[in-house]
Amino acid sequence: RPIPLTRALISVSDKTGLVEFAQSLAARGVELLSTGGTAKTLREAGLSVRDVADVTGFPEMMDGRVKTLHPKVHGGLLALRDNQEHLAAMEAHQIEAIDLLVVNLYPFEETVAKGADYADCIENIDIGGPAMIRAAAKNHSFVATVVDVEDYDAVLAELDANDGATSYPFRQRLAQIAYARTAAYDAAVSTWMAGAIGEEAPRRRAFAGQLAQTLRYGENPHQQAAFYLDGTNRPGVATAKQLQGKELSYNNINDTDAAFELVSEFGTEKPAVAIIKHANPCGVATGETVIEAYKRAFDCDRTSAFGGIIALNQTLDAATAEEITKIFSEVIIAPAVDEAAKEVIAKKKNVRLLETGGLPDTTAPITTYRQVAGGFLVQDKDNGVITLDDLKVVTERQPSEQELKDLLFAWKVAKHVKSNAIIYVKDGATVGVGAGQMSRVDSTRIAARKAEDMMDACGLAETPTKESVVASDAFFPFADGLITAAEAGATAIIQPGGSMRDQEVIDAANERGLAMVFTGMRHFRH
Ligand code: 5GP
Repeated sequence: RPIPLTRALISVSDKTGLVEFAQSLAARGVELLSTGGTAKTLREAGLSVRDVADVTGFPEMMDGRVKTLHPKVHGGLLALRDNQEHLAAMEAHQIEAIDLLVVNLYPFEETVAKGADYADCIENIDIGGPAMIRAAAKNHSFVATVVDVEDYDAVLAELDANDGATSYPFRQRLAQIAYARTAAYDAAVSTWMAGAIGEEAPRRRAFAGQLAQTLRYGENPHQQAAFYLDGTNRPGVATAKQLQGKELSYNNINDTDAAFELVSEFGTEKPAVAIIKHANPCGVATGETVIEAYKRAFDCDRTSAFGGIIALNQTLDAATAEEITKIFSEVIIAPAVDEAAKEVIAKKKNVRLLETGGLPDTTAPITTYRQVAGGFLVQDKDNGVITLDDLKVVTERQPSEQELKDLLFAWKVAKHVKSNAIIYVKDGATVGVGAGQMSRVDSTRIAARKAEDMMDACGLAETPTKESVVASDAFFPFADGLITAAEAGATAIIQPGGSMRDQEVIDAANERGLAMVFTGMRHFRH
């Protein structure tokens, strides 16, 4: 049933839009109650406000830790107004009903994002705010709860439409939003604390997210979708500045993330470029210059690169921008974009251009989530890094220095390719990528065949896999995958090892003069 709005309690940290909203309420004859800072802002704007301290008979105390935690406030929010006992209690204790609660919380997430110290973060955990929000939302039969500046207009529209009252469905919707806010708030606190006390893999986890954007649709047009920030401020697609182009889609965001995370593996030592399609790379390369790295990445699979997502680990320059825009790409993401490059890309209105300001720390502990029916799978992000010292040569032949470099490059790429992943690499560039097959030998074949296709496209005299090296994200269960790679021209292999048939695979490598190293680490990715 509609509840006429006669009394509102407003207590907000973010005072955006506050005065206008309160003026509109006052103009409708609503009585305003407020906490210290909020009341001050309203009075300065000429509004008449009652202090919560006057209502409770207690001053705000303990640095504001205790302001509204009082039966006069919580009774006013929680009382069932169709319950005789509740009404009698209100009467006995002079508790006045509150019809609208407007609260936005201490900026805990922002304080953490600023890099504030422990004590400062703790002090920014709002206590009375969430208590009031939860109380008012529970009592949505009678009380409307607003936790977001963005909803002020909707409240005014609701009052206009209902003759100064709020309807039950409206209050229900606001209550649902309110609990989403308090849940996310406490989750943010818990997530921050896990990091602050060095608990990298806390056994009890909360899920926190701040709505960044409602997306036009999800993976497919019939799916609704939204994009949430996790508050870590990690450089990447979530925090990047979009310099031009249409709004990012769900798939764009997913693919751009895959592209930028992959290219960030290479640090800034040498230019590197990754081109991604459907979250798998169709070309990754390093080069002496950014444009060289791009061209070499493009040459891995020119067919698939069309409409791809391109990630760079260094500043996008004009020459590279010219080269990239020769074909259509959905998104370009780079730590920085120079002015001349911006002008070049500006000619292609549809290209989305993102600038991240830096590369993420690829070894930072991060938790990843995946939903399954009835639950969530939670795990640490795959941060595994293999260096030269970790490699164990298992063949008669030792890999050459160039082979070793390429093997480590291939291994880095393999980590970012859906399993079963097979990557052929030559001179710091992928020449064949086999992704997402149900058998390893198929991935090995597909990658080699795709490389052969590029022979004609790039006008090469021989197949690009000739004298390449190969990375396999998990062990070869049989020798057939290795034999296929050898037949395609591979001379060295990197793989975790650990198969029951390792010896069979090693023998096959020795027979063909291949060098093979074991990493002892697997990079499944699904
Ligand atoms: P103001 O700027 O009006 O002084 O304070 C507004 C903020 O105080 C709001 O973010 C609100 O959530 C918070 N708040 C209201 N009551 C309490 C309380 O009893 N304890 C704490 N810690 N915060 C409160």
